[in-house]
Amino acid sequence: MKPADSGWRDRAACAGQDPRRWDVENLPADDPDGAAARLCANCRVQVQCARDALVPVDITRIVGTGHLEAPDLVELSGTVRAGIIT
Ligand code: SF4
Repeated sequence: MKPADSGWRDRAACAGQDPRRWDVENLPADDPDGAAARLCANCRVQVQCARDALVPVDITRIVGTGHLEAPDLVELSGTVRAGIIT
């Protein structure tokens, strides 16, 4: 089931961009927090992004085995969400 307002992703500043830019490992080592804040500074959907970052992801749905297994919920980490390193 998709969240009620999943369309916010289309309005994101990162929509259509290379997602690797938001990987922590690709942030400059001398100022990762500042770089993270700058990546999302002009995004109009930071609130929705932050809220979404708090929801665990069911990996079984991503890989398409959700109908066979119990949910395997994980927290995503290692990425920038709403200007913050998660
Ligand atoms: S706040 Fe940052 S990570 Fe979240 S949708 Fe906007 S640009 Fe993407």
